[in-house]
Amino acid sequence: LVVLKDVNKHFGDLHVLKDINLTVREGEVVVVIGPSGSGKSTLCRTINRLETFESGSITIKGVELPKEGKALAKLRADVGMVFQSFNLFHHKTILENVTMGPVKVRKMKPAEAKEHAMKLLTRVGVEHQANKYPAQLSGGQQQRVAIARSLAMNPTVMLFDEPTSALDPEMINEVLDVMTSLAHSGMTMIVVTHEMGFARKAADRVVFMSDGAIVEENTPEEFFTNPQSARAKDFLGKIL
Ligand code: ATP
Ligand code: MG
Repeated sequence: LVVLKDVNKHFGDLHVLKDINLTVREGEVVVVIGPSGSGKSTLCRTINRLETFESGSITIKGVELPKEGKALAKLRADVGMVFQSFNLFHHKTILENVTMGPVKVRKMKPAEAKEHAMKLLTRVGVEHQANKYPAQLSGGQQQRVAIARSLAMNPTVMLFDEPTSALDPEMINEVLDVMTSLAHSGMTMIVVTHEMGFARKAADRVVFMSDGAIVEENTPEEFFTNPQSARAKDFLGKIL
């Protein structure tokens, strides 16, 4: 579904993505882990072209990522992205946050968008907050709204970049639970996270990045019990 072939990217002299080859099949959940600065966020941003890259190719559903213009906007709408910071529109209600994209980009009728949005808000457990503004919600609730907002676009794949790392500890699980149920529902997901419990529970595959390269790729079971590379062993030693 998502295929990266020999993708290379530099920031000036810094080679941030080195010959990245990654295939994510439909319904697969891939967790990306690795030390700070290893290129995880850049990888996510490159997949939906928030960043450019110099060589290689990225295809989504067999279509190569367009460089710009309408085709790019359309493709980006198919790739849901949830960031560390929730990025909701603060002057809009929760419901408006979720209906905006479908109405503007997908040309959905407002009534239909609203009905769909309420279903999604219910699915992530914040339906009672629909008419409030983001600032009136807790961080965990806001992040669940951000997930519902992405889902409202009916994305082909969902990217998550450390969605729980800005949250207070007691709110982390409510967001991970939503993500776990999404994973089990068959959504194709690429998730950057340090939450190893989530990786063990929900990931089909763990990708370990270090210094801009994919160093290791394995099932969570294998990766956590039997890491192959010295760098993965070192990393796991520090976080587990
Ligand atoms: P973290 O775990 O801290 O989020 P990461 O694995 O997500 O780290 P990236 O944010 O992808 O790492 O950064 C990879 C490298 O690219 C780092 O050395 C970073 O300093 C550099 N970098 C990231 N964004 C830019 C930018 N816009 N301009 C220049 N260098 C950048
Ligand atoms: Mg990052």
